[in-house]
Amino acid sequence: MDRIRDPRAELEELVPYDAKDIRAEVMLASNEHPSNLPGEVIDWLAERLDRFSFNRYPDPLASDLRTLIAEANGLEPANVLIGNGGDEIIFDILLAWGGPGRKMLDMPPTFAMYAIDAQATGTEVVSIPRLADFSADADAVIERVSRGDIDVVMVANPNNPTGNLVSETLLIDILNATDALVLVDEAYFEFSRHTMRPHMERHPNLVILRTFSKAFSLAGMRVGCLLGHEDVVRELTKVRQPYSVNAFSQWVASKVFRERVVFQQGIRDLMRTRDTLLHGLAQMDGVEVFPSEANFVMFRVEQASALWRDLLHGHSVLIRDFTRTPGLEDCLRVTVGSDEEVDRFLVATREVLSARRESQLLTNGAASRASGEKEVGD
Ligand code: PMP
Repeated sequence: MDRIRDPRAELEELVPYDAKDIRAEVMLASNEHPSNLPGEVIDWLAERLDRFSFNRYPDPLASDLRTLIAEANGLEPANVLIGNGGDEIIFDILLAWGGPGRKMLDMPPTFAMYAIDAQATGTEVVSIPRLADFSADADAVIERVSRGDIDVVMVANPNNPTGNLVSETLLIDILNATDALVLVDEAYFEFSRHTMRPHMERHPNLVILRTFSKAFSLAGMRVGCLLGHEDVVRELTKVRQPYSVNAFSQWVASKVFRERVVFQQGIRDLMRTRDTLLHGLAQMDGVEVFPSEANFVMFRVEQASALWRDLLHGHSVLIRDFTRTPGLEDCLRVTVGSDEEVDRFLVATREVLSARRESQLLTNGAASRASGEKEVGD
């Protein structure tokens, strides 16, 4: 045969998640932690590495880590599922609660993986776009879930990439209005400190997502977790890959979680740097900056894609371009990096924008001189 049979028709429209591997000196595109693991954690791991069983399959449900996370959240291990990053858990939720003939409620602009995974699993996406200030359209959401045909609701809280929280009242109203599985994605919980954990007992359909990729410097290890009712966790174990979280990641994440107090100072430092970043952007002419409860900041500026390119090619600063996302025209998102990285970003942005203004002045000047000459000639 000289051809390949077509895959499922749904995939034709599907654009893969934009995970381009662009390298730059200053990497502020993926909401990662700017620092590697603390030296003492790396030393501890290094001292024990020769006794690590690379030859054995991992513990399928990551019992050690699962128990630690359960204890820290006042839950039983049966209420916790560990995944290969939060991404895997989102996919598993759509495998189990989505699928052909089923519906997911999404509130764009938001984390792109919800809609991508919905499409990949044949789940219908019901979109209730956010309002102009990026708050959720509470009335429309409640009206829509109250019709009773939604199977799963995705709420990123804080939202990525806009950085804002949904009100707790709205989340409770949603939970009261539907028996759909409601995923409150708290990937940035360590920065926002807002959680729906206290509402889990009253609402068995509430599930919470957390990740080790942000505040705990472990994006490369791919570890996330879900907190939820044991019946939900049991259903998810039916669709998940049994060994999806490798043994090394489980080992590292367990150590990091045991040492989590060590990360608190780093989180506080990042929040201070976020203020510097917000303030620096707010002072630039032509920049509209949005408040953030997470480790990133979104801002709007004219010709944003050109700024994105100039930052990368002229200054080796990589941020994220959202200008092609509906509702985020002219918006860019920058991660809160180290003080030095944020400083380099601010200096570079100021430079690009002021060079742009100068060239506009020159063009305008030349244009008005040209039209002036013309008038005289006329
Ligand atoms: N949810 C949200 C809102 C995110 O921003 C991210 C990371 N970009 C994730 C989930 C997934 O994170 P990870 O797979 O690294 O745990």
